[in-house]
Amino acid sequence: MKKRKLYVLSIDSMITEDIEFMKTLPTMGSILNGAAVVSNITSVYPTLTYTIHTTMMTGVYPDRHHIINNETFVPEMEHAPWYRSCHEFDPDVVTVLEAAKRAGYTTCAIHWPVTGDVDVDWHLPETWTAEGTPESMYQEFVRLGAKPEFLDEFWGEYGTHLNGLYDPAFTLLAHGATLAAIRNHQPDVIFEHLSLVDHTRHSYGVYARPVYKFAYFEMELLLSQTIEAMRQAGVLEDTTIVLTSDHGQTPVEKLVAPNTLLVRDGFIRLGEDGSLKDYDVIFKSAAHSLQVYVRNPSQAARTAKLLARYAAEEDVGFERIRNAEETEREMRVKGDFVFSIEGADGYAYSNALTGELVGKADNSNYKYSVATHGHDPRKGPKPAMILKGPGIVPGARLDGADIIDEAPTLAALLGVSLGRPDGHVMPGILIP
Ligand SMILES: [Zn+2]
Repeated sequence: MKKRKLYVLSIDSMITEDIEFMKTLPTMGSILNGAAVVSNITSVYPTLTYTIHTTMMTGVYPDRHHIINNETFVPEMEHAPWYRSCHEFDPDVVTVLEAAKRAGYTTCAIHWPVTGDVDVDWHLPETWTAEGTPESMYQEFVRLGAKPEFLDEFWGEYGTHLNGLYDPAFTLLAHGATLAAIRNHQPDVIFEHLSLVDHTRHSYGVYARPVYKFAYFEMELLLSQTIEAMRQAGVLEDTTIVLTSDHGQTPVEKLVAPNTLLVRDGFIRLGEDGSLKDYDVIFKSAAHSLQVYVRNPSQAARTAKLLARYAAEEDVGFERIRNAEETEREMRVKGDFVFSIEGADGYAYSNALTGELVGKADNSNYKYSVATHGHDPRKGPKPAMILKGPGIVPGARLDGADIIDEAPTLAALLGVSLGRPDGHVMPGILIP
């Protein structure tokens, strides 16, 4: 079996509708020219970045990898820790990175969510610290498996200006890491994730001008440098290039804080400073959807009635309430929550315990701003996958695939096994 080279770039929030614009950019356009294109890919629920990127890396539904939200459920913390580690997954879940490495490939992962503790040769896991200082970030990367000798290859140039997650320096750091890996090591398999398109959609809207005239141009510049680094390293001709993404976004008109109802009705008790003291029932935001937790499982039946009453009497936009069994059966998500709630079009949810029940969408919190995700993956614009290079059928078209099929397709391209994934190899994309 011939060893291949693979570069996968996840352009967070890239949607099928973006492809026509991407064709007008020099580097993206040249990749798209003759590429195989998989359009309108159905993602997994809830359509949150960490949930989906884990599926993109493993080919399994969230009921097996258990990354059911971006954040872990720690209701006492206003900013709960995000999921970082592969130790959450069922033991039989295999990442493409691990399968490739076991088969003798060298591997690199840059800012790919939930790759902490995955065995990767050159690794910059996606993570950050509350302080956001370069020193704390360096230690945090090492904690999740980055090797100091790799960090030191690009840190002086790209790491010393870090200033928290949403700073452009964070994107530049990832880019610097990718360039260093290509120039110094020519990894066989690279997975990279960049969030600029997603952040811009949150702030300005799904089809807003800055998405295309700012974020995509920035992505184009970064990608052109990455491609040039591959060319100079002598690996470009041998590399299969994949541009893909995790979810679309849909507009937010009302930002709802349903926990304020639970405070009003006595199911959540607050301390004098407004912080959480105790709860019987509490909502955890997944942006366009919610997960509902109870302190005591025996409260589930009573909670069902309460949720139905809120849906009927309050402006909460509860479109569909599923209990845990229905969520697992219909949406393939399993967690400690007892209900999941899909929001109606235009509704998004915060975790806020105080303040107004219904606010207007604004840009004060990126996650709940004028557009967001976390919705049923059958709704709204959908992600795409663009593949070009060795092993790919030029010009192939596939409309309406499932995102669980991405990892099995990439594994098949590399000739490695993911064990027992839920997805299958996409038809017509790979040269047999
Ligand atoms: Zn995302």
